[in-house]
Amino acid sequence: MGKLSGKVAIVTASTDGIGLAIARRLAEDGAAVMVSSRKQQNVDSAVKELRNKNLSVSGIVCHVGIKEDRERMIQKTLKEYGGIDILVSNAAVNPVFGPILDTTESAWDKIMDINLKSSFFLCKEVVPHMEARGGGSVVFVSSIGGYNISEFMGPYGMSKTALLGLTKALVPQLAQKRIRVNCIAPGLVKTKFSEQLWKDSGAASSAYAQIIPMKRFAEPEDCAGIVSFLVSDDASYITGETVVIGGGVSARL
Ligand code: NAP
Repeated sequence: MGKLSGKVAIVTASTDGIGLAIARRLAEDGAAVMVSSRKQQNVDSAVKELRNKNLSVSGIVCHVGIKEDRERMIQKTLKEYGGIDILVSNAAVNPVFGPILDTTESAWDKIMDINLKSSFFLCKEVVPHMEARGGGSVVFVSSIGGYNISEFMGPYGMSKTALLGLTKALVPQLAQKRIRVNCIAPGLVKTKFSEQLWKDSGAASSAYAQIIPMKRFAEPEDCAGIVSFLVSDDASYITGETVVIGGGVSARL
C-alpha cells in the first residue's frame, strides 16, 4: 500500500515536464490521477506511458484558462474516481522575454490568467468536492523566479510571487474545511519550458549551473517527491508553506 492509496488527484499541465513527473509519482505512491493538458495527443501519450507502468491514471484535455475545460475535468474525475482529494496546480506560460516596460497588455493578461487566475479558480472549484471527502490538499507550482525576479521575465516572476501570496491567503478558510494548501518554488528544472537556458552545453548554461551550490540544474523528479510528501499525511500539520527546490540558491523577497 502506497502512502496515497485511496486518494484521487488532479494534476494540471501533466503531460510533460514537472507535471508529468508529479502525476507519475503520485500514482506510484498509490493515488488515482487525472492527467491533463491542452492537446489530446499529449494527453493520450502521457496516459499510455503511465498505464504501461500499471499506474492508475485517466486523462482529459484541459486548458486551465477555460472554465468549461476545468469543469469537464472535475466532472470526469468525480465520475471515474468518485471524489477529489488532491489538486496540483502546475500550468503556467511565459510568452515574453525582455524588459518589463516592453510588456503588452495582452501578454500581461495571458500570464496572469493562466499562471494566477486559473490557479485560484480551479482551487475554488475543487474545494467543495474536497470538503465532501472531509478534507484535502492543494499544491501550487510557483518558481524561485517568484522570489528572485529576473530582469527579463518580470511579469512571469510577479505571477509566481502572487502564488506565494495566494497560498497564504487561502490558509484560514481552507483550514476550516480540513484542506491544506502549500506551494513549491523550483529553481531551473530541465524541461522544454526552460530548454533555452540549459540545453546548449555552451559557456552560458554551464556558467549558470556553476552559480548553483549543487552545480546542477534540477530534474522534474526533484520536484515530484516533495509534492507527494506535501499532499500526504506525513505533512498533516503543514499548510501555507512554500518549499524552495533550488539546489542551494538562496531565495528571498
Ligand atoms: P513543460 O515541460 O514545458 O510542460 C508544460 C506542460 O504544460 C505540458 O504538459 C503542456 O501540454 C502543458 N500546458 C501548457 N499550457 C497549458 C495550459 N494553458 N493549460 C493546461 N496545460 C498546459 O513545463 P515545466 O517546466 O514542467 O513547467 C511546469 C510548471 O513549473 C510551470 O508552472 C512553470 O512555471 C514551473 N516552473 C518551471 C521551471 C523550469 O525551470 N522548468 C522552474 C520553476 C517553475 P500541452 O502543450 O498539451 O498543453
